[in-house]
Amino acid sequence: MTTGPAPDPTSSPGPGPPPSPDPGPIRGILFDVDRTLFDYDTSEEHGLLAHLDDEGLIGHFPTPAAALRLWREILDEAYAAYLAGALTFAEQQRVRTRRFLARIDRFPADGMSDADATAWFAGYAAHRDARWAAFPDAEPLLRALAPAYRLGVVSNSAVAHQRRKLGIIGLLPYLDTALICSEDHGAPKPDPTIFLAGCAALGLPPYQVLFLGDNYAADAIGARDAGLIPCWLDRNATDDGTAARDGIPVIRTLAELPGVLSRTRHHTNGS
Ligand SMILES: [Mg+2]
Repeated sequence: MTTGPAPDPTSSPGPGPPPSPDPGPIRGILFDVDRTLFDYDTSEEHGLLAHLDDEGLIGHFPTPAAALRLWREILDEAYAAYLAGALTFAEQQRVRTRRFLARIDRFPADGMSDADATAWFAGYAAHRDARWAAFPDAEPLLRALAPAYRLGVVSNSAVAHQRRKLGIIGLLPYLDTALICSEDHGAPKPDPTIFLAGCAALGLPPYQVLFLGDNYAADAIGARDAGLIPCWLDRNATDDGTAARDGIPVIRTLAELPGVLSRTRHHTNGS
């Protein structure tokens, strides 16, 4: 609706909001890595159980699932401290080792040196890394998208770690032009600056970039609030309708992303 005096065709445009710019097509896609492209949980489970077997510790738990639950509980605590800047990437690995062994009364009475904690974690990591794998739907998606979109990664991790991982699982060639990680960037998702750094690495404005991740708060809401086009990967069907209320498209597999790309343009431009 137009209000006020009729415009004078001889004058320049007056004050007021500019017309909404056409945001243009989606030209880039940024991905979360762990639990989005990379099957973190399977490799973690194998790594822990094989390492506990090597160490003669598996009998300290009523079931393998109980061991995994404890490991993941400690991971969540230590990784939160890492993302908050209280621990380095290497320190959170040593903290996890010490806390885990303490919880099963296997922490050495005279303490555990950094070297010993690092070595214990390395035993776990060797088994884990031997099972590193992308989700089966990841490489086909990236191969299909690569000719039409600029692709990259924004991850709450460290570049060296994720670069190595993506290389081993065969996805790095699709993603290495934009590989932004929180430890190197200086702030984790959902901080808007890390999403904007990903867009800058793609050479695109945020409103032309879709972000896909499995963590609702850090990935989907974070990307939306940074001005990107969000999409939430909900592989385990946990959505209770919140995403629709928040205006976040939801997919259950990566194969559904092309459909979202073809439907999502109207969600952009601040609407
Ligand atoms: Mg993730």
